[in-house]
Amino acid sequence: MVKQHIHSLDAQAWAEWLHQEQFSPKVLNFVLDFVYQKKLTANLPSQFPKFLKDFFSDNTPVISEVHVSEDSTAKFLIQFEDGVQVESVLIPFNKKPTICLSSQAGCAMNCSFCYTGTQGLKRNLRAEEIIGQYLVVRDWMRENQKIDLNPNIVFMGQGEPFHNWQEVNLALSIFLHKKMVGLGPRQITLSTSGFMEGFDAKVLPPINYALSLHSPFESQREELIPINKKYPLKSVIGNLQKIELLPRQFITYEYLLIRDFNMSDEHALALGELLSGTKSIINLIPFNPFPGSRWERPSKEEIDLFKEKLVEQKLRVMIRTTKGDDILAACGQLKVNKFSRKKYV
Ligand code: SAH
Ligand code: SF4
Repeated sequence: MVKQHIHSLDAQAWAEWLHQEQFSPKVLNFVLDFVYQKKLTANLPSQFPKFLKDFFSDNTPVISEVHVSEDSTAKFLIQFEDGVQVESVLIPFNKKPTICLSSQAGCAMNCSFCYTGTQGLKRNLRAEEIIGQYLVVRDWMRENQKIDLNPNIVFMGQGEPFHNWQEVNLALSIFLHKKMVGLGPRQITLSTSGFMEGFDAKVLPPINYALSLHSPFESQREELIPINKKYPLKSVIGNLQKIELLPRQFITYEYLLIRDFNMSDEHALALGELLSGTKSIINLIPFNPFPGSRWERPSKEEIDLFKEKLVEQKLRVMIRTTKGDDILAACGQLKVNKFSRKKYV
């Protein structure tokens, strides 16, 4: 019999298991302290760890490679039991380190500017594999960088999170549970290309959401993100605007900057019409080229000029400029060697 993984149970599944094994519901928090904090208190029988092992598997994925850039951004190749690998990135945003996680191995969306997209979908990741990526990178950070906290998460690695929603949603409930990983809702950002199958704003967990926007024009966006044919931008934005936001929370619109393609006055005007007055932030991401890609990255001057045009449209705008941010944009491209300086493993 294949054992269930210990990181694949949400609070309700734990409560049901405890009931089935005739434990008091009162021990739930102690069980979670043991599973997620490795703390074993006298409230549990001493043979509990062994008992747990009879029911659940607890192996975590393995870091097969780490590359650290000059600004200490670390890129990890993470391998699962069946040999499938994904990439995760640890970005040192000052005192708020952030882990860029993959939700799938590869991606089925086939966006023309994305290296992951050119590889197709290998398979979905299970919740425990998403949690496992986080735990191994966090523990690497604690050990190697001596930072003893829980990094933030961005789902901006490989994969379209809404295309693997059941497992991503389960992982989110484990990330957010106070006694499990224990992250706050503002610590997690999910980025989507606009794949909206089964989307229901009312039942989404209260985290931050980002849309890969990249063009305000349907036909041009379709050229970049083919899934726009099925879920046109207008309807996607309408759906995202139904999400109930916390105070001072925004929807982030990621906007890839491609030279001579999506940075004209008309683009700025159309973006103003689409988003001004909404609770939004535009995050400008200069295109990261990869071998065989047909788009070009704009110069610093072109980027600044486009930003000015958007600010004139009364939009809130940020540019991903720092080195770590650059790598974040490249996250999911599996171009490990391109920026590596040091190799740990
Ligand atoms: N699939 C989701 C999340 C992963 S991609 C999504 O598409 O939103 C994370 C971000 O990296 C997206 O905004 C994506 O558009 C961007 N990205 C992908 N390839 C890129 C490239 N070559 N240069 C810059 N950003 C890129
Ligand atoms: Fe998939 Fe996102 Fe890349 Fe598009 S940009 S292919 S949705 S990972």
